[in-house]
Amino acid sequence: VKQRGRNAFMVFNQSIENKTLERRLLETALRTAIKEQQFYLEYQPKLNITKNELIGVEALVRWNHPDLGRIPPLKFISLAEETGLIVPLGEWILRESCKQLGIWQIQGLTNLTMAVNVSVRQLEDPYFVQKVEEILKETNLHPKFLELEVTESIFADVKNTVTVLNEIRRMGIQISVDDFGTGYSSLSYIKEFPIDTLKVDQSFVKDIHTNEESKAIVKAVLNLAKTIGINVIAEGIELAEHVEELSKDGCQFGQGYYYSKPLSTTAFEEYVTNMHTL
Ligand code: C2E
Ligand code: CA
Ligand code: CA
Ligand code: CA
Repeated sequence: VKQRGRNAFMVFNQSIENKTLERRLLETALRTAIKEQQFYLEYQPKLNITKNELIGVEALVRWNHPDLGRIPPLKFISLAEETGLIVPLGEWILRESCKQLGIWQIQGLTNLTMAVNVSVRQLEDPYFVQKVEEILKETNLHPKFLELEVTESIFADVKNTVTVLNEIRRMGIQISVDDFGTGYSSLSYIKEFPIDTLKVDQSFVKDIHTNEESKAIVKAVLNLAKTIGINVIAEGIELAEHVEELSKDGCQFGQGYYYSKPLSTTAFEEYVTNMHTL
């Protein structure tokens, strides 16, 4: 027993060491990646699901490491947040996505919004608002086409984020609450913050057709949003059954693999072409 206990301890200890090492290597790699531009963006279509019309895209960052290959965001975003590297990375993401929308607008896609995920750490950056202004100016983009996706966690902590979000909203940029319903936070922030859209988390969409609770939660969110006059979009739509349930409940907007996975720039352009010729 003693022997086993000791081995278990050693294995445990070693795995902590490996984790620290892995983190440190990843952090170094992340710094290099920003310098050497190993990141690129993919774009996932957002639709009006009742009309089957494209309304916008969400930009999602991708990391292609020269040796390690593709590293998923879930592996590096939180580390980028902890180390503060999300600030320069997030600025790059914002600039790149705005540039891309500018190009698509010139190509005739004049009604699309570009949604960009923004971390708390970025909103805490005293230059955030200024940077956003600069990027919009640089890319010649009207602020109404830009949407920032933030998670509920930002409403929990700081007073400062209210000011930042108000400034963002005053500029004409849209704000949506990502992963809505998973933040364990009080709903009172909905009154105090300038929110345009609630993004129902995919965990509720996944089993909306089989689970009464999920169904009830989605319905409640739709009711709430309707009452206070804000939009709802459902994410993670994978099945026709999801579309059916959501439509029945009066959800107008959606996003998910059922419509399209996140696409490269060229794949998105093909998607749009096919959509028009179908
Ligand atoms: P998120 O913002 O909630 O993004 C949705 C995630 O669900 C994306 O994963 C997307 O590819 C995936 N997804 C879309 N449709 C479906 C579907 O029908 N079924 C399923 N199962 N999944 C679907 P991804 O790209 O791996 O991103 C994961 C998370 O990483 C994002 O969650 C977001 O929190 C973060 N992230 C991604 N890109 C960025 C970024 O540019 N900036 C920041 N700050 N965070 C990002
Ligand atoms: Ca998002
Ligand atoms: Ca989400
Ligand atoms: Ca998420």
